[in-house]
Amino acid sequence: MKLNIADIEKIDEIQNAINEIMKINNNIYYETGNKKKYMIFTFGCQMNEHDTEVLSGLLEEMGYEHTNSIKESDIIIFNTCSVREHAENRVLGRISQLKPLKNIKPDLILGICGCMMQEKNMSEYVLEHFPYVDLIFGTHNIHELPVLIKKAMESNSVIYDVWENNQDIVENLPMTRKDKIKAYVNIMYGCNNFCTYCIVPYVRGRERSRKPEDIINEVKVLADEGYKEITLLGQNVNSYGRGLEKKIDFADLLYMINEMNGIERIRFTTSHPKDLSDKLIYAMRDCEKVCEHIHLPVQAGSDRILKLMNRHYTKESYLLLVDKLRQNIPDIAITTDIIVGFPSETDEDFIETLDLVKKAEFDLAYTFIYSKRTGTIAAQMDNQVQDEIKHKRLDELIKLQNSISLEKNSRLKDVVVEVLVEEVSKRDINKLSGRTRTNKLVHFPGDDSLIGCLANVKITEPRAYTLIGEILE
Ligand code: SF4
Repeated sequence: MKLNIADIEKIDEIQNAINEIMKINNNIYYETGNKKKYMIFTFGCQMNEHDTEVLSGLLEEMGYEHTNSIKESDIIIFNTCSVREHAENRVLGRISQLKPLKNIKPDLILGICGCMMQEKNMSEYVLEHFPYVDLIFGTHNIHELPVLIKKAMESNSVIYDVWENNQDIVENLPMTRKDKIKAYVNIMYGCNNFCTYCIVPYVRGRERSRKPEDIINEVKVLADEGYKEITLLGQNVNSYGRGLEKKIDFADLLYMINEMNGIERIRFTTSHPKDLSDKLIYAMRDCEKVCEHIHLPVQAGSDRILKLMNRHYTKESYLLLVDKLRQNIPDIAITTDIIVGFPSETDEDFIETLDLVKKAEFDLAYTFIYSKRTGTIAAQMDNQVQDEIKHKRLDELIKLQNSISLEKNSRLKDVVVEVLVEEVSKRDINKLSGRTRTNKLVHFPGDDSLIGCLANVKITEPRAYTLIGEILE
């Protein structure tokens, strides 16, 4: 491992911590025949999933081995999400359940990191109410994990190290990727948009892009390792490149990656509609490896609510983008996120959302009830909507979207689609599952030797969320 960060002393400190812990763990292994074990609970988005891959890579570099057993674990880390209150409560519930284990296994290292810990009131709450937690750190210093673990081993008190910000991008961190076929590649970190409901800019910091050469090198390694699909990650990939010395935007990056041998499919998420340029739409159209799918969060259909959300587009301009995407990429699948019950949302506003959903004909929508996040502008807004109304609206929206999703998928009956075979189906071990280029999940009978291959599958039974098919020889 050869870390790449500006602070040379920091690199030495991290490397020394890795070496020391690895030595301790190796000695234990030679004496007992057992490796020290770790477990990570991950909440939230792909960014967090990918951060967990880095945490796992660092832990394995130190000689820890992954386990799915809480009781066997020597380190348990919660990589948390603060986008919704529900996820936060789940984390706190899980941590309290670990107190008896910590009592009988005092050497167990219990850590909490991620977005929740970037909220000062929350990390202080954990500090006060869960004194048996050993490590508290945030999103900006996950690369410091070895140093933090070493400190925790040497100390009886909690190690609290939450950075308010970090403009540095640490390259070459080890990673233990969850998947062998598909891989996440971060292209940027943070967000500058400050949508009024969203906590992300406060917990992930300002936008910063990775250098294109670092991204290309990572993709090259993935291609050499046999990965077939990459997903380029960022809170708003459409603004990739701002602030970099070299003049480059996201469309340029897509063209560059499209030229690379080995990788068969390129995906990306997430795209802010206000930054979806014509150039990017043409790049999606012209790059044959870029899949025909875009996740384009609309959040609401009422212009008044969109303005209050600070989204910088209108219902009409969003629908124009949808048209432009479909004109250029006829088979494209468009998915979205929608929030119901934003402060002051009236029945009329909600009707606008339903109307947009009908007109946009999304393939899929991730629908959420507005969740008040302390520290955001929307949390201080008057006229918070009653829970009962929020639930009613959500039910109505889901019902509408389900009927649209089913109708759209029905058009695929008897159509042959290209599927990247990913795994044995979780629902039915006699079937395989994979995704179309449009990101639709397909289940079909087949031999598991096909995992990792592209297969032609005829759709026999379209459903709202999945497609059932049969493989063509
Ligand atoms: S674009 Fe808006 S919703 Fe997305 S992460 Fe940034 S602030 Fe949050």
